[in-house]
Amino acid sequence: MSNLQPELEQVFRASGLRATAQRYAVLEFLASTPVHATAEEIFAAINRHDPRASRATVYNSLRSLEKAGLVREVLSDGQAARFDANLHRHHHFVCDVCGEVEDVPWFEIPAAARAVLGERQVHNYEIVFRGACARCGKGAKE
Ligand SMILES: [Zn+2]
Ligand SMILES: [Zn+2]
Repeated sequence: MSNLQPELEQVFRASGLRATAQRYAVLEFLASTPVHATAEEIFAAINRHDPRASRATVYNSLRSLEKAGLVREVLSDGQAARFDANLHRHHHFVCDVCGEVEDVPWFEIPAAARAVLGERQVHNYEIVFRGACARCGKGAKE
């Protein structure tokens, strides 16, 4: 159905997590939309395709995917957690005006930035830019 299929299957195989229909549907949805959906939005989208999908199954699938590292929770800012497929590393941009969370292509932080971390061992990092997205910023410019 989507050209993501070989990649998703490969990701499941590598993780050792069994690719049940529900888990597959959740991961495919997150990987194919630029939106960082909440659990409720994921459920709504899955349910539209498969009305038999229960909320509990979708939520459980989401949790299994998260535990296996295929999905991660992106900043929630005290609101409902938003989820993202973890297939490619990327940074995030959060629009303070409309609340949209956008992906920013991955780049490594420069060595100078690492130096400030001293003895700390960094296993992972992500930069969150904040401001006004392209749409919201237009109105603000004079
Ligand atoms: Zn915006
Ligand atoms: Zn993202």
